[in-house]
Amino acid sequence: MESLGDTKIKKLRLQSTSGNLLRMIELNDEIITQIEAHGERDYPHECGGMLIGHFHADGAKSVMETFPLENARDEADRHDRILILPKDVMRAERYAREKKLDVVGYYHSHPDDLAVPSQYDLDHALPVWSYVIVSVEKGKAVDVRSWQMENDRTRFNDETLVSTGSGSDRAFNT
Ligand SMILES: [Zn+2]
Repeated sequence: MESLGDTKIKKLRLQSTSGNLLRMIELNDEIITQIEAHGERDYPHECGGMLIGHFHADGAKSVMETFPLENARDEADRHDRILILPKDVMRAERYAREKKLDVVGYYHSHPDDLAVPSQYDLDHALPVWSYVIVSVEKGKAVDVRSWQMENDRTRFNDETLVSTGSGSDRAFNT
C-alpha cells in the first residue's frame, strides 16, 4: 500500500504531525444511504469501497462520491476479512483524478458487529484516510461512524461525521 505515494497525502501527513488538524468528515445524506445500502446488500458478508472527495487544508474531508468495490477474498473468510487490492485503489484514484477529486478514505461494513475498527483494520490502515464503518445488524444498517488512524499507528481516533444534507459540498473554498 506504500505505492499510494500521493503528494497531497504526504503533505497532509506532515501537517498532521504538528496537530491542530480537524478530525472531521462531511458526507451528504445520499452518500450515507449508499454506504448503508451496500452494507445491507452484501450482508452477511462485509462490503467495501472507496470514498472520493476533497481534502481540506484544515484536515477535514468532504466525500462527494462512493466507489464500491467487489470483495476480493474467498467466500469462506469474507465475514471478517476484506482486502483492498492495489488495482482497485489505482482504479479509484484514476477515477477521482478525472473528476479533479481525491480518494479520501475507505468504507466497509461490520456484519453483526459494532461500527468500531478491528485490530485487522488497524493493521491494514493508511494514515490520513478516513475509515467509515457501517454496522449491519441482522441485515439492517444501524450505525455509521468514521475513524482516522493515529500517525504512530497505535490506534484509531473517532472522527466527527457531519451530514451536509443532500447534494451539497462545503460552503467555503478549499
Ligand atoms: Zn473492519
